[in-house]
Amino acid sequence: IRKKIIAGNWKMNKTVSEAKAFMQVLLKELEEYSASDVVVCPPFTALQSVSDLLNQSASQVRLGAQNLFPASHGAYTGEISPWMLREFFCHYVIVGHSERRIHLGETDIFINKKVKAALSASLHPILCIGENFDERQQGLWKEKISTQLQLGLKEVEEQKLADCIIAYEPIWAIGTGKNATPEQAQEVHHFIREEITRLFSFQSAQKVRIQYGGSVTAENAQDLLLCPDVDGLLIGGASLDVRSFCSIILNS
Ligand code: 13P
Repeated sequence: IRKKIIAGNWKMNKTVSEAKAFMQVLLKELEEYSASDVVVCPPFTALQSVSDLLNQSASQVRLGAQNLFPASHGAYTGEISPWMLREFFCHYVIVGHSERRIHLGETDIFINKKVKAALSASLHPILCIGENFDERQQGLWKEKISTQLQLGLKEVEEQKLADCIIAYEPIWAIGTGKNATPEQAQEVHHFIREEITRLFSFQSAQKVRIQYGGSVTAENAQDLLLCPDVDGLLIGGASLDVRSFCSIILNS
């Protein structure tokens, strides 16, 4: 049985003081909570202070980063290595978010390096995939997702696969208020599991957790989580408000 995983991707939001205020409420609400895994992914600038608060609390909330660079150190101006994230006790790292693919030109090949770099530093990569509006309209989502999975997970050792989380985030649903319906999400998540079965094995595919992301709210979260292949949520906008994030978690 796969434990559900609810993650908040704050994107480029929250100052250090805003992050602290959010965490103080969250940690109080989730002091004894352990039903689903909970992850918060602040911007790099708030990792230290969020990490300190997590270390002082008894809660099981984990820290995630929004990106990494696939090298241990070196002349990569502006970048952050997996080991730097480990210093902040990060457990998770988002890789291949569509916003980075679109605005920063990240390719599947580069994203694959990040997945492997995360795994080799014992971080859990959250690999984001998903089709855009045109690809869905043209019936091309299967091709897109199949390619992103095949390239993104290339040369990942099968025994490390269960450490990877896949996030299905249809680009047409991100920040648009138009979430995928539970039926649409289940169809794609089932397809993703079939593809992982084809690339690795049935046993391994059964262990991989697949999150849905894209306009998740406290109102639609529960129905999405009822889908058999939806193992969690990756939440943008609704994760910025501590009340709505908590309500999603406590009802998951
Ligand atoms: P929204 O929840 O704001 O649509 O963002 C989803 C997302 O991109 C999470 O990574």
